[in-house]
Amino acid sequence: MARKTVLVCDNCGVEVDEGRGATLRVTFTDARRGAKAADLCDGCAGTMPGIAVARRGRKPKSLS
Ligand SMILES: [Zn+2]
Repeated sequence: MARKTVLVCDNCGVEVDEGRGATLRVTFTDARRGAKAADLCDGCAGTMPGIAVARRGRKPKSLS
């Protein structure tokens, strides 16, 4: 049996199809607390708090 690993939403437990879903990553400012991450389905990802972040590689325009 060739079983491919299925991604399951850490919030609601629903299976996440390949190429879908999101990863929620929490990084504590206090490095000793490390970080944690959760795999989320599209639905849950949309309800999570947070603001849209620009893709890496471009510095945000500084306010003048
Ligand atoms: Zn979910």
